[in-house]
Amino acid sequence: MANLNYHILSELETMQYIKKIPGLFSETAQLICKEMGDGNLNLVFRITEQDSSEKSVIIKQALPYARVVGESWPLTLDRARIESEALMMQNGICPGSVPKVYHHDKELALTVMEDLSTHIIMRKGLIARNRYPYFAKHIGAFLARTLFLTSDLALDPECKKQKVMQFINPEMCRITEDLVFTDPYYDAKTNQFNPLIKAVVEEIWGHDRLKLEITKLKEGFLTRTQALIHGDFHTGSIMVTEKDTKVIDPEFAFYGPMGFDIGAVIANLLLNYCSHEGHTLIQKERIEYQDYLLNTVEKIWTIFEEEFRTLWKEKARDSYVSLLGYEDDYLLRLLQDSLGYAGCEMMRRVVGLAHVPDLESINDPKLRAKGERLALVIGQQLVLERETAGKISDLTSLIRKVRNREADQD
Ligand code: ADP
Ligand code: MG
Repeated sequence: MANLNYHILSELETMQYIKKIPGLFSETAQLICKEMGDGNLNLVFRITEQDSSEKSVIIKQALPYARVVGESWPLTLDRARIESEALMMQNGICPGSVPKVYHHDKELALTVMEDLSTHIIMRKGLIARNRYPYFAKHIGAFLARTLFLTSDLALDPECKKQKVMQFINPEMCRITEDLVFTDPYYDAKTNQFNPLIKAVVEEIWGHDRLKLEITKLKEGFLTRTQALIHGDFHTGSIMVTEKDTKVIDPEFAFYGPMGFDIGAVIANLLLNYCSHEGHTLIQKERIEYQDYLLNTVEKIWTIFEEEFRTLWKEKARDSYVSLLGYEDDYLLRLLQDSLGYAGCEMMRRVVGLAHVPDLESINDPKLRAKGERLALVIGQQLVLERETAGKISDLTSLIRKVRNREADQD
């Protein structure tokens, strides 16, 4: 049903609106409001009190169309409800891992939430070669808890299906189906890529086995209601300080395959790895940072697996606890899925509509092409070889092997 009272808020209205929400600001407070969204889809307002640097909130309002494209690309406002409900569920399951939700307004498709301006977008930190010692621990645990505890492993099947209904998100899923699993694999209008890599892209378009494997992964995305996934779990959806990690922006959340989230975060670390071919020209510095990224990928999986196995022991439903071999088999399939989805994400970020700032910020097209080619080589290998992986170090060894081979060719 249409939201009859929906309209796009001005900065002035936003300040009037927020004063009416109990427990935040007083009626007489002198407020400052600034729209600061750098995202693709929504408005993000930051509201602060003039004489207090401590009191501030964020209001995120969905637009009825995609901000990057304009009104010609209409988009459901229901994504704002999904986002606020997913944030609340994630906060319940993994307290402190996401911004606190203070208020949600369904009619206006907006959410009032905790201001994380002390944090920066993880992707920016990685481009600057920062290191985040707690990141892998926090993200590994976040993934394990949010995925395990929303799945059939932990929930009664009827209760789980209620949640599947709650988080049905067809329009946002459609974007992923097209932009991640379909368009990059043929000469689609939405694609855009560096002309210097055209030959490699055409090889991908002509690679039948690769396209078959991508279609199997797409089938998983279309049909599996394994757990409540974030759905857009890249490094632009994570905000960090040296010690803290927060996950934002779950507007693509729905019940889908767990490996899609794990794969997305791995892929975005690997895309950053590839971008340092262009950003970090001193070899020693580059290799040190790339090794840090590979260690981070290994740590995320290792911590994820440890936490997932602990939850299995403590929280799995009776029928799963003592079934011989099921837990190991589940985790092996999950690792292989994650690698496959990571491969899809890497390729689509180079060939498809939505690129990553890590690579885009390399100004010299030749240097950028070097990073992009590496991303396409790794992405293809991950999709094609995923079922040969038995442990996370199989992934990192594969990448080291690709790196050495490419270095020999230089
Ligand atoms: P979109 O879905 O439109 O991409 P995001 O949720 O990613 O919007 O938010 C866009 C930007 O707004 C983020 O990159 C971040 O800089 C900022 N932002 C979003 N949420 C918060 C928050 N809770 N605290 C501080 N900044 C935020
Ligand atoms: Mg978003």
